[in-house]
Amino acid sequence: MEFSSKLLEEAVNEMSQLPGIGRRTALRLVLHLLKQPESQTVALSKALLDLKTEVKFCKNCHNISDTELCEICANASRNSEIVCVVEDIRDVMAIENTSQYRGLYHVLGGKINPMEGIGPSQLTIKSLVEKAKSGKIDEIIFALSSTLEGDTTNFYIFKQLEGLDIKTSTIARGISVGDELEFADEVTLGRSITNRIPFESSLRN
Ligand SMILES: [Zn+2]
Repeated sequence: MEFSSKLLEEAVNEMSQLPGIGRRTALRLVLHLLKQPESQTVALSKALLDLKTEVKFCKNCHNISDTELCEICANASRNSEIVCVVEDIRDVMAIENTSQYRGLYHVLGGKINPMEGIGPSQLTIKSLVEKAKSGKIDEIIFALSSTLEGDTTNFYIFKQLEGLDIKTSTIARGISVGDELEFADEVTLGRSITNRIPFESSLRN
């Protein structure tokens, strides 16, 4: 792609760093912004910068939050003895949309993936295990997508919890293997949480 302007090229380069945005789409977006009033670009830049500099992570579940303790963890009507382990905030949002779950979450921030250099220490596994050892948790539900990385992560955590008096379960999938959680429809996902199965019995499949 040949550009008549260095400024335009730079903007397109930056925009196309985003996932799913090719250079053509980046150019379309940049030209769109150029046509809009300056205030819109200022508002967009400010929102992104504020997000990056001011975002907090809940000190209990590690979900993105505006406060030290997120709304879910701070809600006294939720059952704090049940913790659902998910990869990121998109899974929390998907499960919350089902209205079928009243426990808390633990956001790992990713899955163990040696190919991409992501090991257990880069995730919030240690804090989950500490939480489990506190004796305040009755059940841990694994709700990671059933990919190789998801299964590896579940199993790693399961091993860390060995010897603790905690029930472990996994969401019963009506979803085919490899499907990402966030794409599951609400009814299927809601049902799979309600009908969760002991984690150990999922290992036999
Ligand atoms: Zn929280």
